[in-house]
Amino acid sequence: MTSDHAARLLAWIEQDRDRIIAFLQDFTRIDTCNPPGDTRGGAALIARFLDAHGLAFRTIAPKEDNPNLVATASAAAPRRHLVLNGHIDVFPIGDRSRWTRDPLGGELADGRVWGRGTVDMKAGTTASLFAYLYLSRLIGDTAGRMTLTVVSDEETGGRWGAEYLTEHLGAEVLGDCVLNAEPSSPHTLRFGEKCMFWLTLKVRTKGGHGAYPHLSASATRIAANLIVALAEVETIRPTLPPHVSALLARPEVIDAYDRGLGRGAAEVAQRVTLNIGTLSGGVTVNMLPGECDIGVDIRLPPGVTSAQMMDAVQRICARFPEVSIELPPRTPVDPTLSEPAHPMVGILQDTVERLAGYRPAPVISLGGTDCRFWRRRDVPAFVYGPSPEGMGGTDEGVRVDEFLHVVRTHTLAGWQWLSGAQPAGVQSG
Ligand SMILES: [Zn+2]
Repeated sequence: MTSDHAARLLAWIEQDRDRIIAFLQDFTRIDTCNPPGDTRGGAALIARFLDAHGLAFRTIAPKEDNPNLVATASAAAPRRHLVLNGHIDVFPIGDRSRWTRDPLGGELADGRVWGRGTVDMKAGTTASLFAYLYLSRLIGDTAGRMTLTVVSDEETGGRWGAEYLTEHLGAEVLGDCVLNAEPSSPHTLRFGEKCMFWLTLKVRTKGGHGAYPHLSASATRIAANLIVALAEVETIRPTLPPHVSALLARPEVIDAYDRGLGRGAAEVAQRVTLNIGTLSGGVTVNMLPGECDIGVDIRLPPGVTSAQMMDAVQRICARFPEVSIELPPRTPVDPTLSEPAHPMVGILQDTVERLAGYRPAPVISLGGTDCRFWRRRDVPAFVYGPSPEGMGGTDEGVRVDEFLHVVRTHTLAGWQWLSGAQPAGVQSG
């Protein structure tokens, strides 16, 4: 019975191949760059799609130019609730003259759909949308309920999108498992992610004439010493459950990281990193600087909390009386982790093996996604999407074969989850 349904789902995707690609092209042609972040055009395209297929939805727009769409389909007595989540907004285009393709062209050439946001994540959001369409046709045959959440401000932190929905709509959007198609590389699936810990360190001294260093300390020289001392934060080691550490140490997982994200990614995923993103101080060469500001970008892996990091930063800064710490307006948050032994991980691996002949490795993401908002509310959330190559850069373009593979994977994995099937090798109960 299940295999018959899977065959039908795959047949629909095959029949709709050109339509699915055309939708992604149309979606790419709508400017949803954030900033500035007006995503109404992208939301309207998705709303028209849902309307055209008779799929009911609600628009939730706590901020007028950032509408979010929420659609739900359910079997009569659902025992499971799957959430499909994607975002509409994309990175800014940047310097247009450096693009050789039209960033808003949605051109189909050389096996890719080209344009800003095709990789991150218009391909993924399109995959969720079509998975929702196909699964809604069969929802009556499942034991589940399914909710699609399409949000508008992932690139700027999710305040009016995923964070708002998970905070205000409760069970309607929380579900008990989330699938998201942010870029991951088809060889990995993501069950956790690092998080940002940003702060500005301000060094203030009296300052003065460059020839009179006996009268004031130099803010830039203190900053230089402080930066060297700050590197100590990179020695803080995460505390992870032993089975998670063991999983991340497997050779096939390290190999998948390196292949998808470049050599060294496996190591970076599990440790604190420090980036001095900005540094500004001094007015002119012969003056002794009285001010220097350091923009610090620390990334925390799961197993290191923001409170732990704050403590470490304060201890280091205490050695420099001229230094004060300034935090961004929003409270620092912690990295998030879902259980890698969750059945959805096995379902995704089985599905990809069936479709493409390999099993994606479960990994922790270096960057952030909206999945964190669900994980913080104890809802397991998993990411499986196309290669991140070109994401946010010039000439961004998603491979059509990867895109369609992601459509198939999310549709079939969603079906497996909703129908209550267990992946091979995972015991129920
Ligand atoms: Zn994204």
